[in-house]
Amino acid sequence: MLDYDFIPDNDYLLLTPGPLSTSKRVRAATLKDLCTWDEDYNEIVQDIRAKLLKLADLNEDYTTVLMQGSGTFSVESVLVSALSKGGKALIFANGEYGKRMAKIAQMAGLHHTLIQAPEKNIICEREILKILQEDKDITHLAFVHCETTTGILNPLEKVCKIAKDFNKTIILDAMSSFGGIEVDIRGLGIDFLISSANKCIQGIPGFGFIIAKRESLLKLKDNSRSLSLDLYDQWECMENHNGKWRFTSPTHTVRAFREALGELFEEGGIKMRHARYATLQKNLVENMERLGFECYIDKKFHSPIITTFLYLERFNFKSFYYFLKQRGFVIYPGKLSDAQTFRIGNIGNLTLEDIKKLISCIEEYVWCPRRDSNSRPQN
Ligand SMILES: *Cc1c(COP(=O)(O)O)cnc(C)c1O
Repeated sequence: MLDYDFIPDNDYLLLTPGPLSTSKRVRAATLKDLCTWDEDYNEIVQDIRAKLLKLADLNEDYTTVLMQGSGTFSVESVLVSALSKGGKALIFANGEYGKRMAKIAQMAGLHHTLIQAPEKNIICEREILKILQEDKDITHLAFVHCETTTGILNPLEKVCKIAKDFNKTIILDAMSSFGGIEVDIRGLGIDFLISSANKCIQGIPGFGFIIAKRESLLKLKDNSRSLSLDLYDQWECMENHNGKWRFTSPTHTVRAFREALGELFEEGGIKMRHARYATLQKNLVENMERLGFECYIDKKFHSPIITTFLYLERFNFKSFYYFLKQRGFVIYPGKLSDAQTFRIGNIGNLTLEDIKKLISCIEEYVWCPRRDSNSRPQN
């Protein structure tokens, strides 16, 4: 076991859905400069690609592509590569990330239909069924697994089943779930699953990745209207040139990602990581409710990733935020139009001990007379 004491501690834990708190082992891996064109580096890329398939329990019928940028770049890459030359996507949105897919489609001039649902509701499979029966032009179904806007978990199995009954290509934004929630990619017939380095795999930001059914990916040749986001081209270069990226790659992030994957396997794979996240989330919710907070989403729809809480009466989020930050925790504001909320993520290199410490800080805040102070504290 290496000793990572030489890596500085972070100033606070990130209770946010990515970037999130990483281990010292992951951060230590960033301390070497590597050449993006060198074969030693390219072997790391190939190792990562193979391990992603292993993690998802997939064989050579599937393949992976790594793509520079934040997660959105990977979503955009799939959409512009799959739909530029014909086809029509049915996009379902019950939060910001679903809407973002529609915005990508709109800006790139891709044919699509957007169904919007309230943020409290999961995807309604009957509604999807109805549209698929009526609109024969639809070729693709695109939706978000865990909608990070609220933490709601969409009914993946049911929606994939309908899509496959109608022989549609499935594009799944599993950004905030892959690695933390088991997804049967083969069994569900998912064609393109998108995630990124800095979510449940617990790496640092810099690239996203796509797990694709090989057969579906091969259809995308010469399809993209974007050069840098051309999924097929990116894949073709990686696949046929032993892990080579077309353009400069986030070398430090890639090296850190390999360590993060190693940690995930050592933890016992996705099943065990899911169990840890679920324990943290359950403990968080139980204790927040004890302190008088209410969850925004019906509990039966909760993901083990992030939870949305309603403000308490006369609640000042800013003062709450700085109070917790000073004590070593950074939380996330809400993003909803119809309710005053904040979010607490529990993915990352976190333990139950961390959640307990957080709860005792929140308890202190709830009882603290300084609650009304509005401003950022001076240190
Ligand atoms: C994080 C996230 C994304 C990507 O966001 P970026 O800021 O581009 O990394 C997309 N979809 C979901 C559901 C996410 O949680």
